[in-house]
Amino acid sequence: MRIIILQKEKILLLLALFTLLGGLLFLFPLLYQAILARSRLGETTILIDPGHGGIDGGTQDYTGNLEKDINLAIARKIRAQLAQCGVQVVMTREEDTELAPYQPGRGGRHRRDLSARIERARKAKALFLVSIHCDWSTAAQRRGMVAFYYYRNPVGKNLALSIQEELNKVQPRPQKAAPGKYFILEQPGINGVIVEVGFLSNREEAALLQQPDYQEKVALAITQGILRVLPAAADRAAAAPTPPQTPPRCARL
Ligand SMILES: [Zn+2]
Repeated sequence: MRIIILQKEKILLLLALFTLLGGLLFLFPLLYQAILARSRLGETTILIDPGHGGIDGGTQDYTGNLEKDINLAIARKIRAQLAQCGVQVVMTREEDTELAPYQPGRGGRHRRDLSARIERARKAKALFLVSIHCDWSTAAQRRGMVAFYYYRNPVGKNLALSIQEELNKVQPRPQKAAPGKYFILEQPGINGVIVEVGFLSNREEAALLQQPDYQEKVALAITQGILRVLPAAADRAAAAPTPPQTPPRCARL
C-alpha cells in the first residue's frame, strides 16, 4: 500500500515536471521574442523635431502666441511619454533656439536650419523623424490636425497613417494623412512625418493649443501612433542588410 502511494507521488511529480518543462518550452520562444523586442525598442532612437525656434517664430495666432513655443511644448511631452516606454529620444532643439544662426550677407538660413535638423536625424541613426508644426490659413474656420508624409517613402507613410488614426480620436472632425512636399521629408534615409497640430488662424483651435492638458492629449496621440508601428519598423531595420562601409582613408596613402 505504502509503495503504491509512493509510486503515485512519483507519477504526480513526474507529471508536474513534464508540465513545467512543456510550459517552459512553450513560453521560452515567446519570452525570447519579448526580450528581443524590448531590447530593440531600447536601441531604437526617435528624433523629435520641434519646428522653428529662436529667431524663427513660425506662424502665430491672433494674440501673438508663436508656433515655435507650441511646437516645443508638445515635443517635450512626446519625449517624456516615449522615454517612459523605454524608447530613446533625441530632440533637434531642447530650448528656444534656431539651428542655424542668421549671418549677415549670407542667405539661405532657413535651408541651413533644415539641413541641420536632417543632420541630427542621421547622426542619431533615428528610425523616425517626427517634426511638429502648426498651420495657418486665410480661411479662419479651417481647423484640424494632419500628418504629412513623402509619397515615395512607405515607412514614413505608414507612420503618418498610424499617427493620423490616433489624432482623429482627439479631434472633432477626422482628417486624412496626406502626402506633402517638404524638404525635410524628401531626404534619403529619413523616415519622417510632419504633424501639423492645428491652425493658429482658427481662434478656437489656437486657444486649445495654449492649454497644457490639450497639448498632453495631442502629444499622447502622436506617441501612440509612433509606438504602434515602432516594433515592426525596428524589426525590419534590424533585418535589413547593412550598407557596405567605406574603408577609413589613411592620411599617408
Ligand atoms: Zn511651422
